[in-house]
Amino acid sequence: MNLKKWIALGLTGCFLFSGCAEQREQAQAALENSQQENRYEATSFAMDTVMTFTIIHEDGEELIIDAEQEIRRLENLLSVTMDGSEIKQINENAGKAPVRIPTETLELLQTSKDLGAETGNAFDIAIYPVVKAWGFTEEEQSVPPQETIDQLLPLTDLDDLILDKENSTAYLEKEGMAIDLGGIAKGYASDSVKALLKGKGVESALLSLGGNICTIGSKPDGSPWKTAVQNPLDANDYVGLLEISDTCVITSGGYQRYFEEKGKQYHHIIDPATGWPAESGLLSVTIVCESGTKADALSTALFVMGLKDGLEYWRTQDDFEAIFVTTDGEVVATEGLKDSFTFEGKDNDFTYRVAER
Ligand code: AMP
Ligand code: MG
Repeated sequence: MNLKKWIALGLTGCFLFSGCAEQREQAQAALENSQQENRYEATSFAMDTVMTFTIIHEDGEELIIDAEQEIRRLENLLSVTMDGSEIKQINENAGKAPVRIPTETLELLQTSKDLGAETGNAFDIAIYPVVKAWGFTEEEQSVPPQETIDQLLPLTDLDDLILDKENSTAYLEKEGMAIDLGGIAKGYASDSVKALLKGKGVESALLSLGGNICTIGSKPDGSPWKTAVQNPLDANDYVGLLEISDTCVITSGGYQRYFEEKGKQYHHIIDPATGWPAESGLLSVTIVCESGTKADALSTALFVMGLKDGLEYWRTQDDFEAIFVTTDGEVVATEGLKDSFTFEGKDNDFTYRVAER
């Protein structure tokens, strides 16, 4: 339901009772204000997560429907479980035959391979058989025998994902291999929705895909959008605030999905070098980048790489910034965020520093 409707309902409620002239005036003012701003907001559930789109545009109501349709289209295209999805078909044909796929899917697979190579394989969409062995695709999770991990690791090499641009096919060379875009799909979806809305003239919008934020432009008054960076140790708290315009903010953290066995926590981000949940001394990594696709892949990759290697990688690139929260209670922001990130985690025993180039 959009804000106008909410406020309209508020007004209706008020009219039913006498003696609320003041509230009525306030609500009327809010309604006029919202009409001026043309602010529309809707929440839905897709891609396994809660999505909220806020669009400032006179056609916002229809644009939200367009955005949601785009998400459904991508959900079908990129899902690893939905019947008929090409990703599922690629997996079912591992070691057997190449599968014809749309150019869009081929390009995203190529981007995933490139980001895998760039991050020393910390980002690996072929890690899926190992993710499955830990049960992260099932209701029940448990620590798999080391023998199982050892058997599966040779099936996770991205070099064995063969992309043929001419024939638009993808082929996994070894039987038992499988890919999954869980570490990049939401970022890609944000980029797609952003492009769609921009193409329709939207100059101000905030898209939240499961807490990952992508913005178009600034707020209608010209000030930047604000988003919080969660405290990985407390879902109701944050370690700082980011001011952003026309960019994406995407976080990966062990706290987002994990299970406990014999008193130890095991999370869903797997280190492709070991086949075990990455233990790199980090609780979370937040990436700030114009490209949601890159931000999503890098949040996963830098979480695997850890602070030192993550910073080293950042120094070789000039199109993203990062915030690391370490297991030692340090919050480290890269230099480019010096002015846009406000640290607020002091009361929770976090310390703060800026990493220089
Ligand atoms: P994210 O929340 O973006 O960090 O993505 C995590 C999801 O990506 C997991 O739930 C797995 O499905 C998958 N995944 C786990 N480890 C990796 C990895 N090293 N590279 C790519 N995807 C991964
Ligand atoms: Mg990711």
